[in-house]
This record gives sequence, C-alpha cells and structure tokens, in this order.
Amino acid sequence: MTRAKNRGHSARQPFHIVPWDCDFLEAVLQLALRLTRNRPGDAVLVFPHGRPRRHLIDRLRNAPGVPKPCLLPQMYTVQELFTRIRAEREQRPPQTVGLLDRVGLLLECVTDLASPGTPLCEALTAGGQRHFFPWGARLSALLEDCFSQGLRPDDLTHMEGQVAPFAASLLENLGRIHERYTLALMERGWSTPGFDAFRAVDGLEGTPSCLEGRTVIIAGFAALNGTEERLFEHLWRHCGADICLHTDAAVARMGQERVHWTCEDHVRWLTSWRAEAELLHAPRAFKPRVSFCEGYDLHSQLHELGTLLQNTEDLSSTAVVLPDTGLLMPVLHHLPTKAVNISMGYPLVRSTLFRLLETLMRLQETRGSNGLYHWRECIDLIRHPYLKMLEVEGTRPLPEVFHMVEDRLRGGTRFADLATVMEEALAETDVAPGTQDLCRTLLDLCLSRWERASTPAALAEAVGFLCAVLLERGGDLWERFPIDAECLFRLMQRVIPALRESELAATAFPQDVLFTILRETVRAERVPFEADPIGGLQVLGMLESRLLTFRRVIVLDATDDRLPGAPPNDPLLPDSLRPQVGLPDARRRERITAHNFHRLLAGAEEVNLLWQAGVERSGLLDDKKARSRFVEEMLWHEERAAGRLFRPGEGPLGTVTCTVRPFESTPRHILKTDAVRDALARFFERPVSPSRLDAYLTCPFRFYHEHLCRLAPPDEVIEGEDPAAVGTLLHEALNRFYAPWRGIEVTRDRLDPEMLERHFRQSLHESGLADRFPADALAMLETAGPERLRRFLARQPDRTVVLHLEEAFTADVEVDGRTRRLGGRLDRVDRRGEGAVVLDYKTGSLRTVRPDVWEDHGLWERVRTWEPAADRPLTGQDEGSREDLLDELARRMPSVQLPCYIHLYGQATGEDVHDAAWVELRDSGDERPLFGDRCDDAVRDEAISRHIPDLMRFLLRHMELAPAFVPRHGRHCDWCSCRKLCRV
Ligand code: SF4
Repeated sequence: MTRAKNRGHSARQPFHIVPWDCDFLEAVLQLALRLTRNRPGDAVLVFPHGRPRRHLIDRLRNAPGVPKPCLLPQMYTVQELFTRIRAEREQRPPQTVGLLDRVGLLLECVTDLASPGTPLCEALTAGGQRHFFPWGARLSALLEDCFSQGLRPDDLTHMEGQVAPFAASLLENLGRIHERYTLALMERGWSTPGFDAFRAVDGLEGTPSCLEGRTVIIAGFAALNGTEERLFEHLWRHCGADICLHTDAAVARMGQERVHWTCEDHVRWLTSWRAEAELLHAPRAFKPRVSFCEGYDLHSQLHELGTLLQNTEDLSSTAVVLPDTGLLMPVLHHLPTKAVNISMGYPLVRSTLFRLLETLMRLQETRGSNGLYHWRECIDLIRHPYLKMLEVEGTRPLPEVFHMVEDRLRGGTRFADLATVMEEALAETDVAPGTQDLCRTLLDLCLSRWERASTPAALAEAVGFLCAVLLERGGDLWERFPIDAECLFRLMQRVIPALRESELAATAFPQDVLFTILRETVRAERVPFEADPIGGLQVLGMLESRLLTFRRVIVLDATDDRLPGAPPNDPLLPDSLRPQVGLPDARRRERITAHNFHRLLAGAEEVNLLWQAGVERSGLLDDKKARSRFVEEMLWHEERAAGRLFRPGEGPLGTVTCTVRPFESTPRHILKTDAVRDALARFFERPVSPSRLDAYLTCPFRFYHEHLCRLAPPDEVIEGEDPAAVGTLLHEALNRFYAPWRGIEVTRDRLDPEMLERHFRQSLHESGLADRFPADALAMLETAGPERLRRFLARQPDRTVVLHLEEAFTADVEVDGRTRRLGGRLDRVDRRGEGAVVLDYKTGSLRTVRPDVWEDHGLWERVRTWEPAADRPLTGQDEGSREDLLDELARRMPSVQLPCYIHLYGQATGEDVHDAAWVELRDSGDERPLFGDRCDDAVRDEAISRHIPDLMRFLLRHMELAPAFVPRHGRHCDWCSCRKLCRV
C-alpha cells in the first residue's frame, strides 16, 4: 500500500513551516526520514532548483540513525518533474528544441497567419526574415511565460503607439499565434521548458506514475507560477503530497501575528487553498548581527571584504553572495584563500571567449565597401590573449609577429587588408614555417570562414574549427585558467550543437541575422559552477543561495540596480502591459528577490552588507549608485530602534575610508650625462630645423624624448579630418599654382581663382585623401578648401615677385668655436618693395611674436651674454618662482620659426630680407608679418642683423650647455605625449 493510500488521497496535509532562521535542508531531510520511517528511498523531493540535491546527499551520508547502505530519495526540480509527467502522459519523449528552432517555427506560424492585406503581413513583408529574428526571440520568451503560467492569451488589440508597429501587429495576433504555435509544437513532438509544464498540467488526473507509492515532499517554493500551482495543488489535494515552506514562523500562526511582508505570498497560498500550517521547529529567536558598510567603488568593497575574511578564523559556512555575476572575477582575485567553492551560473556572454567571437563578428560588420577590415577591429583581434598565447612547438612566437602587424596597421589607412599586412610582417621576420602556417590558419579561421558563412551550420563550423585550434595550440592555457576552459567547453557542447543541429541549420540568412542568432544563442548560456566539496568559503549568486543557510553572509554590491535590479526592458511587451495578458510584472520578481534576500539573512548569525555609493562613469552619463531598497529598509528599522538617523560612519553604518593625500610631485629633469651628450652630438650632425628649435623652446624635456630619444607617441590611424594632410594638400596646390610665376612680377588681378581651384582638385585627387577621409570630412574639405584659397588670393599684395617655392636653405651658426648648421625648407620667398619676404603657409593655429620684444635691449643683452654657469636645473620648490632666460623667451616669443627663416635665407643668399610672415590659410588668408609696416626700420635692421643671429646662437648653446633638459609647463602640455614622464 502506498503512503498516499495510507494517508488517503483526499487527505490534505497541513503545510510544514520551517522558520526561516533554521536550516531548511536539515528540516526537510528530517521530515523525509520521519515520514518514510528512516527509508529515504521511499521519498520524492521536489525543489525549485537543483542545488539542494548535493547538499542533501551529503547530509544523508552523515545522518545518524539511518541504516546504510540506503536508497537515496528521488529528487526533482519542478522543471524535471513537469518533463517527466509530460513524457509519461504522451507516451513519447518530446525533443527539447533551442531558440533557433523555436524562432523558425514561430516565423512559419506568423507567416501562415499573415493573410494578405493585414498589418501583420505588411509588417512581415517590410522587414522580412532579417527583421523577424530579434522579435521572434522575444515572442518565443513571451510564449514561454504564457506556457509557464498555464495561460492561453487573447489577441491584444490597439497596441499602436505603446509598442513598435511590428510588435503591435504581433500582439494583435497573440492568441492565434499561441494557438498555432502550440499545435505546431505538438505535431513535431517538440518541447520547451514552458511547454512541458503547460502540457503536464493540462487535464491532469490521478497520481503520476513517477510519484506512485512515494512520499512526495514539495519543498522551498517562495511563489508559484500558474503551472506550478496547478500541479502542486493537485498533488496536495489528491495525492497526499506534503508541502514544506521556509518562511517567517508567523505564517504558521496566520492572523495572530504580523507576517514579514516578503512572506505574504505564503499566507495567500495557504488561504487560497484553505490549508492549515504547522511549525516543524521552534524559531531560533535571535536576530543576526548585521553591519552595513558603504564603499565608494567596487575596489573599496573588495578591500573591506578582504579585511573581513582575514579577521575570520574559520571560513567554513561563510558565503560571499554576489548579486551580479560580473563581480565573480574581481572577487576571486581578492579572496585571501584560493580554496573556495563557486556556485554560480556565469553568463557565457561575459567571458573572454565571447569577446573573441564578438571581435570576429564586429570585423565582418565594420568591413568597408572595398572588403577591407577596419584597423581598430584588426588590432582588437591580434591583441586577444587567446590568440597571442597560442603555441608552436612549445613556444609562443605570435606576439612578435602581431606586434609588427599592429605597427603597420597603425601607420596605415582606416581600412586594411589584414592578410597582406600579415604576409608583409611575416616576410620581415625570421619566424619558423610552423609559425607562418599558424598565422595563415588563424586568418582563415578568423576572417575567411566568417566572410563565407551564410548558414547557422557554416557559422557553427567556423566557431568549431576555431575552438579546435584554441584547444590544440593553447598549451597549458586551459589548465591554468579553468574558468576559461569551462566557457570553452560550454561553447563547444551547447552553442555549436544548437546552431548545427537546428532545423534551420542549412537555411541561408543575411549576415546580420546570423550574427544575431549567434549572439542570442550565446546570451542564453550560463556556465554552471557547482561547489564541490560543499563547505568552506562559498562564493555564490543570489539565486544560488536559495534554500541554503550559512553562519556568516557577506553580500557585495547591494545596490538597487542589482537588488532587486531594474525591470527587464522588453520592447515586445513592456512590463506595464504584462498584466493585460495575465502575466506577472516586475513587482512579483521584486517580491521573490526580497524573500530570497531576507530568508538568507534570517538564517545567518552574522551579516555584512556592502555597497558602493560613488559615481560610476560608464557610457554617456555618470551614474550614482544607490543602496538597495532592501538595505534601506533594514537601516530604517535600525534607525527607528535608535530613534535617530545614521550618518555614514555612525552606528552600524560603516564606511570604507581612504585617506587620499596629494602626491608630492616635482619636475623631472634629464641631466646631461655622457650618453645624453653623445645623443646630442649625433643630433647636431644634421642641420637643425626651425621646428626643432621651436620644440626645444617650448619644452626641453619633451624635445629630449621626442627628438633625441625618438620616443614618438604610438601611431593612430586618423579616421576623421587629418589637419596635417590638409596642410600638405594646400601647400601642394599653391606650389603648383605659383610655379609658372616664379621670377616674374605678378599682379593680384592676374591670379586666377579658378585655376587655383583646379590645382586644388588635382592635388586632392592625387593625394588619395578621398579614399582615407570619411564622407562628411571629404565633403567639408571639397567645399572649404577652394573657399579658403579664394580668400587667400583676395589678400595677396597688389604686385609681387615670387623668388622661391618649396626650397631648402642652410645657414651656419658659430657656437663657442664650433659650427652648427641650421636647415629648413621655405614655402615661398617673394621680393616686394624693400627686400625679400619669407612666407610660411599655416593651416593650424599661429604663434605670433609681439613686436615690442625686439626693443627690449635688456633681454637681448642677456641672450647675448648667457652662460650656462648662471643656470641650474629647477627644483620642485623653486619651480614657478624663478624664471630662467629660456622660459622668459618662450613666453614672449612662442615661436622662433619666422626669425629662423629670415636668418636662413639671409645667410644662404646674401640678400636683404625685409620681413617674414605667416600666411593664415585656416580662415581669412591674411598675412601676419613678423615686423609689419609699423615697425621702425632701425628696430627691424637691428633685429635682423643682430638679435636674430644671437637668438639662434643662444638656442643652440642652451641646447648643448644647459645642465639638464627641464620640463616647461603650459597650455601645450594638454596635447603632450610625455605628460606622464615629466613629474615624479
Ligand atoms: S607635459 Fe608639458 S612639461 Fe611635461 S613634457 Fe610635456 S610639454 Fe613638457
């Protein structure tokens, strides 16, 4: 006789209440042993999830009074029970299908329903398959929800304006889609978790044979969905099942005592079934010690966590609970002990492996119309750690090759032919043939196969081959990083078969749909980590902590966006519309989360709640975290008991403090050691250009790094406007334009703007900028370039003679008995009235010299007589209070280029130089002379004949004789590549 028969099928057992401050699994085990008279094999236990299974087996092994060996109780998750019951009733095991098949089936159903002329048909025709997949994934999830609730939804009309038009046409047909989809699933013998539940409770009668003759205990449910409620009520009313709740003890004394709000669902459950309740245990009747700690960011919480764990002698029965799975990796790196057990479903989509897949997809998605790949994505690919760590005969040779490839990519154009760049890099290095083969194989696996893939099966094959190479060539990578290995295993065992074995595997899809399919399939996967053995320090997610009890609980990142978290954003059926279909909204999810949270805390002796309150910079907006509403509620109770509000750092509300002291920073100098002097000597072997003199004047420290050490900032492909290239283009156009006028007097009215524009277009065509520039920047250049040149022509002098165009000149400077050479290329030299005028075309900003500087005789006397002995490196204390001569010159004369050009031309040709000028091509086309017409002739003559040669000599002497290269701070620091080097 079965126990159900013993107790009578119509017997309604009172619910067993285990107070939530007691160990639930121990109570369930004792209940099972009592009801089966120490024969646990007679019991069937039904839990909301599978984690209690391991814990109960462990406890049973150590349970006194149970004769061993013994049969284990049968343990089901509720989902397993549904599947089992359905399989029993339908006499054939249904085939569980993945997302891709479900969406494919839904597309068929929706297409059948979309009769011509209906909005659904129009929406389908407009968007096609490409449009349907993302909606199909959401529709599938919505129908899953309906199945789980046991609902047959109606069509939802008049949704226009509340959801997107395509979503509105789907909702308008929701009832019919549900009906057709149900039939189609039945016909094909397909199954989904929700559909199993739906079918299992449809017309349920009698005792399912898997429960026949067994003691059924339904344990640990917080709130029931529709199908669970129907199944459990049937088992309780007609099959003698016992129901065991882990909840507030007050639930057992309904009506006599106030029940914790998160347990009110249990009261409603008891009331609606008219069930009675009995306490299995007396509550422990003590409250856990709760401490609250506010950190400013994740790191401060991790620091506090480390301190808490280090001060704990016995870490057994301690749980670190993470409301967000993204915290797993940082937490593991900060735990004082490596012997931890992780119980968590880690989303595959957050793994390093998925980052590689994402890079491969982005490579295809951002390909140019010429079939080439975007340089940034190429660099992301070759920088991926899995690829860099691949081995060839026990060595890892790829970083060297990839480094050369990256250099070439950075010095190239926006779109690159990665295969050619790789071949060039391989040709330049002396790598073994095996390495060359591996590089070519990777190009095939990462690019060619992804270019060709047009079906889910082909995509699965591309992913599969890549996984095989990672496994085969990864060396000890996968042993050293077990979490990564688990992710790889999951990808190979779940995602690839889901793509390869679906009914749509051979169907051709557009590339964006294919990639959506891959992303959605990966998004649905979680890599399960199971604690084994159970004990010691446990790291688990909030969901994984359900039904478990720990002596000490530490919750990290208890912020409102994690606990309970923001409601999911579903564009098909937003949260506010869910009740119209009969589906629970986000409030139910929030109540269940709250119940899990309070239940976990109630069973602990000590609780530490940590969260961050700092501003998080991510995306476009700064976001300030707020502590969880559950924490807020607990704090409020504490404050009410204390009769005052706590400020951070007061009472139980601790803070992580961090004393931040400003760094004492002093400028860093480069002393002129012998090695530096050698480098300087090599530098002087070649003519010093005006721009190098300017660089030295602006900041000697930066000059040292960029021109003596040749430490250039890393190359970046310029993707937007390229001011340097535009400058070169305008120079080129002007040179062509003026070339026929060289040596001839030209009047302004003979300068033809249309001819200049033709030269501009010709130069633009030959420059290749049209291929490199984005369309908007090119359009801007094509419009603004001719306009700027027209303005330039309008401001040319009435008459002039062009003497030189783009010519190089050199001049010698005697420096302490040695000859130093200056050299530079002059854009243009004209003869105008009283002498030669050197012109320098500028497309960037101008650094003009104030004319009064030439009349400061004291300054020029100091320039002339400067001696290094009077100089010394600045120290941190006197920087800013003491101004040396170079510094003063740099301030008053921000550029020495025009004086240097005058000196170069005058000395090289022996001609009288009257002036030099910037020609401002950025805007008005004006000439900005160094001296100008208002300058007194005597001042001009003295400047050109005396001060400028002295200035050149001073700069070269200072460069050579000053004891150190000293940083000079100013606005120019904003775009300096050495800014991290010049202070210590
Ligand atoms: S940041 Fe300024 S002071 Fe420092 S090296 Fe650059 S330019 Fe010189």
